[in-house]
Order: sequence, then structure tokens, then C-alpha cells
Amino acid sequence: MTEVQNVVIIGSGPAGYTAAIYTARANLKPIMISGLQPGGQLTITTDVENYPGYENPIQGPWLMEQMKKQSENVGTKVISNMVTSIDLNSKIKKLTLDDGSEINTKSVIISTGAQARWLNAKNEDKLKGFGISACATCDGFFFKDKIVAVVGGGNSAAEEALFLTNFAAKVFLIHRKDKLRSEKILQDRLIKNPKIEFLWNKKVEEYLGDKNLSSVLLSDTLTEEKMELNIDGLFVAIGHDPATEIFKGKLEMDNEGYIITKPDSTQTNVIGVFAAGDVKDKIYRQAVTAAGMGCMAALEVEKYISEDS
Ligand code: NDP
Repeated sequence: MTEVQNVVIIGSGPAGYTAAIYTARANLKPIMISGLQPGGQLTITTDVENYPGYENPIQGPWLMEQMKKQSENVGTKVISNMVTSIDLNSKIKKLTLDDGSEINTKSVIISTGAQARWLNAKNEDKLKGFGISACATCDGFFFKDKIVAVVGGGNSAAEEALFLTNFAAKVFLIHRKDKLRSEKILQDRLIKNPKIEFLWNKKVEEYLGDKNLSSVLLSDTLTEEKMELNIDGLFVAIGHDPATEIFKGKLEMDNEGYIITKPDSTQTNVIGVFAAGDVKDKIYRQAVTAAGMGCMAALEVEKYISEDS
């Protein structure tokens, strides 16, 4: 493509598709590069019950398929490829794709998202979405009066464990050390909560269950002693990694690799480059908040392009 595009959207989660819908409806003819995991994190969840507009639970992959079709119906060109490098040094940005082709564009919306870290224990892939989750806000509700576990020792694990006590009958907090790294105030709340039981110095070796998770095999990190723990659900909360590798050294990021944007804006430190969704948000991480930021990015692109021409 030799012509200069108005806007290229990198990444196809809720932030990217929302940005696509808005920029397409503003006649900007957006190009979306959909990436390695088209649809993003929602394609590995099952029931979605907290995205507004649907009376009954919907399936994550179906929701993303609908967003794709909606964005295409209003004029987005979706290219199934990966951006391998990006040159942000001039006013016109240059993107190189995996097949060697290049795209020149006036503006870029980065919505490459983040990926939950997983334990990589035996059977994890098989039971993901069937009792194993990385998002208590998304899936906690399905474990009303059940027994669940959270793995991790940071703020996310602490918050997820506390959140799950709203539904579950019991919440085990499994950590590989004998102390948490989460904020003291959260630790105090965990200790005070009668539904929470700590399992210190424990590592998940294997997930057990035929169709759904029924138990986990734990080993003690000090004694190597094994124990089986019967649970209905397990939430992995050991951190996320934003997908920002190709932007390193080119955009301002925090020490965990999340892109920094101006307050109340999706504008990065490079003019004409915007970031929306989990790639810049490690606090909320919801489809609906990502979609909201995608809308913000699109409106900011529209303003940038109209002021520029
Ligand atoms: P963190 O990196 O803070 O914590 C990750 C936890 O997972 C650590 O306890 C770590 O153990 C454990 N862990 C890592 N890898 C493994 C593994 N392979 N097996 C078992 N355990 C593992 O991640 P968070 O997601 O909790 O937080 C990320 C950032 O977001 C932090 O800066 C946090 O403060 C922030 N945050 C803030 C919130 C708030 O302000 N309300 C809410 C949520 C997050 P170990 O301790 O042994 O290293």
C-alpha cells in the first residue's frame, strides 16, 4: 500500500474494534491489523455476562465475531497479519507487516492488549474456561456457593480473592511463598475474612477433572509433599504482560511495559499515536472499559486528522 492511510489500528480486541467502528463511521477508512490472536482475550473465555446489551450470557468468541462484522459493515478493512516493526520517527508512521508489506499512515491506534500469565501446569489448556480462569470479575459470579482457589501473592490475587468471597462458599489463596507482596491493607482484609484460607508455599502441579475442573494437585515448595485439593474453580492471578514488545524504546512505558498516555486521554508521548485498552490499563482490564478507551482513541484521531488537514 503506497497511499497514506488515515489510521491504522493494531490489535483486534474490544478496544480495537470500537476504535474501528468509530473511525469508520467518521469516514476515515480505518485499516485494522488483527494480530496473532484475533479477537483478543475474550476469545478464550466462555460465558460473558457483564458486557451491557445482552439479556442472557453470551459467548466471548461470538461477541468478538460480532464486533468484527460490525466494524467491517461500517467500512473497516481488517487485515489478518502481524505488525513486526514500526517507525514512529516522522509525521507519517510506517508499519511493516509479517509478510514484508508496508503501510504508511497519519495516525496509529495501539490496542494490542495484554495477556494473563498462566501457570503452565498439566491440563491447564484443556480446562481453561472450564473451571480455570484469569479474571474473577468476569467469571466469579459463576461460582456461587462453590469452593474456589486463587493463585498468586500480589494485589491482583488479593483483590480477586476478596471479590470471590462475595459469591463462593470458600476461597483458598495459594501462594508459592509464605508471605504476600500485596498491600498491607489488602492483607489485613484477607486475614479478617472468614471465607479465606491461605495455603502457603504451595505450587500447582496439575489440574484434575474430566470436562470441568474438580481438583488440583499441589506440591509444597519446601518439603515437596503433595496434596490434592478439591475445588470447583481456580483463578490464576500471577500478573499480566502487555503486548508492547515492538514499541519498546519508541513510546513511553512504565516499568512493567504498559504504554503511558496523557491524563484523561489516549494520546501517547508521540503525536498521532494513541493507545487504548489493556495495553495501557492494568487496573480495570474489562472489555467494556477497553471498548470505552477505543472510542476515546477514535475521537482523538478524528480531531487530530481534522486539525492536521
Ligand atoms: P504482581 O507481579 O504484583 O504479583 C504477581 C504474584 O504472582 C506474585 O506474588 C508472584 O509471586 C506470583 N507469581 C508470579 N509468577 C508465578 C508463578 N509462575 N507461579 C506462582 N506464582 C507466581 O502482579 P499483580 O497482577 O498482582 O499486579 C500487577 C501490578 O498491578 C502491580 O503493580 C500491582 O500493584 C498493580 N495492581 C494494583 C491494583 C490496585 O492498585 N488496586 C490492583 C491490581 C494490581 P512472588 O511474590 O513469589 O514473586
